[in-house]
Amino acid sequence: MIAPLLEAIPLPALFVSTDSRVRGANARAVALQPNASEDRALVMVFRQPGLISAIEKCLQSKEPQKAIYLHNEEGQETRFEVNCSFVSLGDDIGVLACFQDVTHVEQAGEIRREFVANVSHELKTPLTALLGFIETLRGPAKDDPKARERFLGIMAGEASRMNRLVGDLLSLSRVEEDARMRPRTAEDVGDILSTVVRNLNEVAQSLDHQIIFEKPDGALKVPSDRDQLIQVFTNLIENGVKYGGSEGTVTVRVEQVEKDATLRKAAVRISVTDTGPGIDPVHLPRLTERFYRIDSHRSREMGGTGLGLAIVKHIVARHRGRMKIESTLGEGSTFTVILPKN
Ligand code: ADP
Repeated sequence: MIAPLLEAIPLPALFVSTDSRVRGANARAVALQPNASEDRALVMVFRQPGLISAIEKCLQSKEPQKAIYLHNEEGQETRFEVNCSFVSLGDDIGVLACFQDVTHVEQAGEIRREFVANVSHELKTPLTALLGFIETLRGPAKDDPKARERFLGIMAGEASRMNRLVGDLLSLSRVEEDARMRPRTAEDVGDILSTVVRNLNEVAQSLDHQIIFEKPDGALKVPSDRDQLIQVFTNLIENGVKYGGSEGTVTVRVEQVEKDATLRKAAVRISVTDTGPGIDPVHLPRLTERFYRIDSHRSREMGGTGLGLAIVKHIVARHRGRMKIESTLGEGSTFTVILPKN
């Protein structure tokens, strides 16, 4: 009687009778644990005391119990939450145990915890500095106008760092929020890039950098969220300037692609190439992770938040495009964004 019911459950599920023997297991449970065939003693099927004790407890108390079951297959660990319920169905009296895969929930929780820890750390550093300077200004530097000016300058710098961080965090959460909504308005990428290059020219010149923009002949339109694409190219060109070594150049190219091999569509390819020291290949796969920096000290010194490339990645994904990073140590790096035309 219990067998068809077990098969109808869309999770690995098994039934343990009052004599602590497995009396039934659906195909999903057998795939998970081939030992779970009928009439085996529970202790011979599962070797995890937590799970066995939850089932035993449920058999005795008739109260629902929960346990965690860790499954290891080819080095890959899957975490199951097992819900045990006492069931009396005709002659079948015992415990129904259902296994729910909670690995991804655990991982999401871990990512969230790590993210909160990172944000707290990033905010704590400038805050500690601010508190320290306030203390000094109230005490030892109270009547020293020169020191006051200098400290206020540093404090302004730390406060704008926090401001940038909060701004980037808000951008990131906004992009994540509308990740599923693909932009529809057709915008000219060349025009967007002209705006960005114009905005950044002054900063670049102040750092002895030159931005070379190879403007395309005609309009190259793609479905875009204009503000978000401005942010993408601002982040990439600004990085080229920030990390591009002294007196470098950042070259921005745009071209049309008949059919991009990965997107399998007509696309517009935008590349940002710098003449900086380049990036060691070991860092490339992690570069777009939140708060991943190659040299934290340099990033902070340049006013970086460690979120720029993570924002770029999310915006490009929202536009159904892709991003490529190529770099040669000693020569420079090229960040390429490919956006589908339709
Ligand atoms: P940040 O705010 O630190 O600049 P990003 O997410 O924009 O954060 O970049 C992450 C890290 O990638 C930077 O800290 C830097 O180490 C590295 N990086 C980014 N762009 C370049 C580049 N053009 N050349 C060399 N390193 C770069």
